[in-house]
Amino acid sequence: MRFSNSLKLCSLLIASQCFLAPHAHSSELREDPDSTAKNNLMYAVAWKQTAAEYRALYFQGFNMARMRLDAALAKRDEYDKPLAIVTDVDDTLLLTVDYWGHLITEGDDFFDDTIWDEWIPENRLVPTPGSLDFIQYCREQGVEVFYVTSRNQGEETYSYAVGNLEAAGFPDVTEERLTVLLDTSNKQAVQDEIAQEYEIVLFLGDNLNDFRRKYYSKDVDERMSLMEEDKAEFGSRYILFPNPTDGHWIRAIYGDSEPPPSDENRGVLMKAATRKSWQPDAE
Ligand SMILES: [Mg+2]
Repeated sequence: MRFSNSLKLCSLLIASQCFLAPHAHSSELREDPDSTAKNNLMYAVAWKQTAAEYRALYFQGFNMARMRLDAALAKRDEYDKPLAIVTDVDDTLLLTVDYWGHLITEGDDFFDDTIWDEWIPENRLVPTPGSLDFIQYCREQGVEVFYVTSRNQGEETYSYAVGNLEAAGFPDVTEERLTVLLDTSNKQAVQDEIAQEYEIVLFLGDNLNDFRRKYYSKDVDERMSLMEEDKAEFGSRYILFPNPTDGHWIRAIYGDSEPPPSDENRGVLMKAATRKSWQPDAE
């Protein structure tokens, strides 16, 4: 798809303001509406809030998941073990858009762990498009669903995760089916344990780490090549959903999944965004 030149120019102006302007605080935002354009989360969050394409990608993922599941069900007798799927939670089954909107309203331009921990117990997460129907289909077909997530809100982490899933309408959120990893994002041990008892036919996630730990690299190029080694798995055993605001792709840029807000980190983002950049006057 092509954009008009005026739109492109507008994007460039906004982008340059994003990275060169100092961090805008909420009081400044209220006094100066133009400063809202300086928040470096703006494009990604506007996309999550408004793009029909964003929601359609979830339907696409779950349609693909159902096709793959049907293919596995058709040869169910060939498997020694009962069938299961393993799914991530945030940005896979539950949308967190409202949290990101709040950050922008407050003038924050990086993930804020303190606000996240306050927001999680509010049960404001909503199901991703197509997710409830797909999970219900798994149940109807006798396919076990395992929820595996890594979160940490202290002692209440597990009950918050149960509350979030149940409030959004997800079924069978039991201790056997929900794993919450507090101190690590490494899901592989849990996945391997499930695989001893079940044939895992699908992994669902918004982060490559939701599929296998091998992608947990801080190097952008290495992460890319590790992914490409498994290119046949995407849309096959691995169903990937979009997330332009958080995930280990952020870690690969900053060296930290939750980089603190600083001008240095805004510069790091600027560098990432201009990794390839046309210079019309260059030789
Ligand atoms: Mg996730």
